Amino acid sequence: MEGELIGAAIIIIAIVLIVKYIKDNRYNQTYTDKPRLTHRKVAYEFLYDRWTYSLPFKKYVVHHKDKNKLNNSVDNLQILLPKEHSKLHGYS
Ligand SMILES: [Zn+2]
Repeated sequence: MEGELIGAAIIIIAIVLIVKYIKDNRYNQTYTDKPRLTHRKVAYEFLYDRWTYSLPFKKYVVHHKDKNKLNNSVDNLQILLPKEHSKLHGYS
């Protein structure tokens, strides 16, 4: 009897933790503006500021000037609006 109660309590705690984990993750994806990809991290850390770029960082795309997507050095990256970026690549 007591064992069953403890078992039930553990299951409830596990469910609460899982729900909390899912909620936290969803919150992070929806609301934080922190980039996860390397080139976006570099651009965010070194190029982006709210005075130059009026929109949140996630509204922009990060372009590789030399077209080499492995070259993530600051001077190779450019922050653009998606439509500016499309124009640059020639697809409109
Ligand atoms: Zn590009």
